[in-house]
Amino acid sequence: MQENTTELDRALETEGWLGRITIPPEQRNAFAARTLALRRQLLLISVLVGLGFYTAFAAGDWFAVPDRVWLALTLRFAVILPCGLALLYWLRHARCRLIVQQYVTCAFHLLAVTLLAVLIALSDSVNALGFVFANYAVLMAMVISMALPWRLVVILAGIVVAIQALAIALGPLQLSVLQLHNIMIAIVIVGPSLCANWLIENERRRHFVLIEREENRKRQLAEQRDMLSRLAALDPLTELANRRGFHAGLESDLERYSPDNVMAIAMIDIDYFKPYNDHYGHAAGDRALRRVAQALAEAARPKGRAGRLGGEEFAIAVPGITAEEVVLYAERLRISVQRLAMAHHYSTAASVVTVSIGVALGRIPAGNTAALFEVADAALYQAKAAGRNRVVIHDLIQPVADASWRCFSAGAP
Ligand code: GH3
Ligand code: MG
Ligand code: MG
Repeated sequence: MQENTTELDRALETEGWLGRITIPPEQRNAFAARTLALRRQLLLISVLVGLGFYTAFAAGDWFAVPDRVWLALTLRFAVILPCGLALLYWLRHARCRLIVQQYVTCAFHLLAVTLLAVLIALSDSVNALGFVFANYAVLMAMVISMALPWRLVVILAGIVVAIQALAIALGPLQLSVLQLHNIMIAIVIVGPSLCANWLIENERRRHFVLIEREENRKRQLAEQRDMLSRLAALDPLTELANRRGFHAGLESDLERYSPDNVMAIAMIDIDYFKPYNDHYGHAAGDRALRRVAQALAEAARPKGRAGRLGGEEFAIAVPGITAEEVVLYAERLRISVQRLAMAHHYSTAASVVTVSIGVALGRIPAGNTAALFEVADAALYQAKAAGRNRVVIHDLIQPVADASWRCFSAGAP
């Protein structure tokens, strides 16, 4: 996406021949699609406006071609009007390619131009030359307003000039100076019209490129925002969720897995980690933290959410677990670390790195997990006091008869 934005920047900076903005190749389809509706609409409007003028100017036939009035009116109302109405219907309802619709619409306008040219050729009235201006006005409107491809515009202009020249040549006056006038009018009208077409198309392109660039930037920003919020919720050392990230997901876990709001919270603390650091060094301590984190996260799957709360303390939340399951689950967590068999000769709990685990199992009132964390913390404290490398469980749902908590001893120290 970054590359795409740079390409769009370049398209705006390096304008091509006569300032043309070149749409990058991979954006061309998008540009065509984005402007398709507009271009179709412009065709419709051109026919509608054209028909309006052809009909409204019928009264001028008495002045322009008094000797051919009935022919002129017949051409206007029996040929151009029905053709125009049929074209309007077709443009609104036919779903064919834009270029086909553009060619057909141009053919319609050329038909109108040709019929006026026929009147110029047939009429003895000098006033018929007014149709030359009318035809150029039609051409100007076509070139400026129909958003046609450049090639089609040039062909159109050529055809209109040629039709006019032919009408003048076949007409009664046959003055060569009229041909010169035809050329001069063509230059005066066609030149600025072509410029306008070029500039409007360029602005359409610039608008598209600017919008695309803006959308790309918005997408980039959204991606960066997502990445930042992911990073803000992650512990960089262990790549587990940090305290913030861990707490953020608890409520949705409950909704997803535990309709009755039951959850077990396990607080996990590495035993004698200070001596580990002191003797094996901080780098070894970091490595140990990473391995313990990985082991716990794997053992916690699939339902458990693991996080590093800080220092050498971890937490795992398991929604929708039963009292029987939680015992095996917590033991699985503890054993997963012991099985790493990371030598720790300065621990009195075992000769390898171990963890103590305090678990609280209970119902969470209105998403408030604080109370359960407090109980889990107390359970962890008890596990430490009881000799470390062990699990203490407080079952707040069905407390055991003789005690509010159960302790599961570790393997041999
Ligand atoms: P206990 O069994 O009672 O938990 O004893 P302990 O030594 O683990 O407890 P204590 O809280 O005294 O020590 C925690 C140590 O964890 C202190 C610090 O050196 C170490 N520690 C905390 N965070 C990091 C860390 O990011 N990297 C490393 N290498 N060590 C850390
Ligand atoms: Mg600690
Ligand atoms: Mg510790």
